[in-house]
Amino acid sequence: MNKNEKAVGDLSTNFWKFEFRCPCKKCRRKKVLVDDLLLFKLEMIRIELGNKPITITSGNRCPEENKKVGGHPDSAHIPGPRGKAIDGRVKGKKPLEVGLAAEKVEGLRIGIGFNFCHLDVKPPNPSRFWIYIKGKPIYSAKIENEDLKKFYDIIIKGK
Ligand SMILES: [Zn+2]
Ligand SMILES: [Zn+2]
Repeated sequence: MNKNEKAVGDLSTNFWKFEFRCPCKKCRRKKVLVDDLLLFKLEMIRIELGNKPITITSGNRCPEENKKVGGHPDSAHIPGPRGKAIDGRVKGKKPLEVGLAAEKVEGLRIGIGFNFCHLDVKPPNPSRFWIYIKGKPIYSAKIENEDLKKFYDIIIKGK
């Protein structure tokens, strides 16, 4: 590739199908379908974070895979027919910082884990924010809620 040429993903400018593929054997040959709104929001979050790449740790999941990883039965990770969720991380940013960038973009549901941030555009999308402890969402509120940030510091970061 010419060094002046920018690589462009096959889903959107910065995202590729392989990043969203369900990791199970059964889905290896399945078409990867991702919601356009999710891709658009992810591109915006990327810009919001200073153009830092978002590493997707979980994109689409078939119902079996979702069950295996302990996802909610109605998880937005399950394509219906398009995947509407990712779990991801950004190098040099805390999951909460990724969540705050997502909140600026608006219209996302945001879950903060120890080393990942869950983002989805499953409707209705009231910009909810929650924190996972051992895989279970245990607190949910608007992200501007200062209690939530305090809670994050105490529980997640052990401050
Ligand atoms: Zn699968
Ligand atoms: Zn998730």
